[in-house]
Amino acid sequence: MAKLLILYTGGTIGMRTASPSDPSSPLVPQDLNQLRQQLPKAYDAAHQLDFMSLPQALDSSDIKPPDWQQMAKLLAKAYGHYEGFVVLHGTDTLAYSATALSFMLENLHKPVVFTGSQLPLGFDNSDAATNFNAALEVAALGAALPEVVIVFAGNIWRACRTRKQHTHAFDAFGSPNTPALGQITDGVDLQQATIQPGADFCLRPSLKSHVLHLALTPGLSNAAWQHLFKMPDLDGVLIQSYGAGNAPMQPVFLACLHEAIIAGIPVVNASQCPHGHVDMHTYATGRQLADIGVLSAFDMTYEAALIKLMWLSAQPHLSLAAWSDNLRGELSQT
Ligand code: ASP
Repeated sequence: MAKLLILYTGGTIGMRTASPSDPSSPLVPQDLNQLRQQLPKAYDAAHQLDFMSLPQALDSSDIKPPDWQQMAKLLAKAYGHYEGFVVLHGTDTLAYSATALSFMLENLHKPVVFTGSQLPLGFDNSDAATNFNAALEVAALGAALPEVVIVFAGNIWRACRTRKQHTHAFDAFGSPNTPALGQITDGVDLQQATIQPGADFCLRPSLKSHVLHLALTPGLSNAAWQHLFKMPDLDGVLIQSYGAGNAPMQPVFLACLHEAIIAGIPVVNASQCPHGHVDMHTYATGRQLADIGVLSAFDMTYEAALIKLMWLSAQPHLSLAAWSDNLRGELSQT
């Protein structure tokens, strides 16, 4: 019987309709006690479970970087007492939170499993119980899976390579550039090599989270670029460029990026294409970015690139020189 800790943060899995008598009223989060009343007793029989919650259960659209830090601190405090952890989370920003925790929880020796659902636990034909049960099984693997993963619709995904890919389908998550770590069918079937801890577990929650994320769209004016780059206290910029990392040859745009880089603000180039990798050397429209020192996001998801930028900028023991290192399995070897 594995001893597991469940951290409830909110999300559809624990939601109910705002008005119990009106099924068309919007979904709102319930607190942990209400969620626990809906969990079938069988779960407690298979594992020894303890529960905790964020101070307020949230729709994950409301989760912010300080909430990631709080989750990481709660798990780190409980780290020695459990064989594995399950984080119940809304699906909308689940990939961001799970990625943030993969950077903050360094040298994990046990699993941190994020899951949620597309329909609340209390609804007919919900995916919530299946996902919850699968997450418990994966968390019970203990030392065999020492990383942060997302368990959803029978798949186990490396958190920092994963995105929400479907608004409503039960099979909502995917890793565009890497296969699933495994599946849960009759038991857990791990098919890919897992991350191995190099030293003792360590909590590194610092972030510089004031990062501007800009998706390029055709025809953005010079005035718009100048306005955007006037944002005070910028910690970094993430450009989501076209194709293999290409951007318009617009002198004002380039000057904005260059001024930021000269001022010590890192600029990262991730692609709008979910699959493949950034290569800023094929076209002049990409080379102009490499020439001024824009960093490549390689084949990272833009979520992973964003969070790696926030995290790495705040680590005094590392520096942006570690940008192209594969720190948590977030990129294919470069
Ligand atoms: N809006 C919800 C959330 O992210 C969606 C979900 O959980 O599926 O909290």
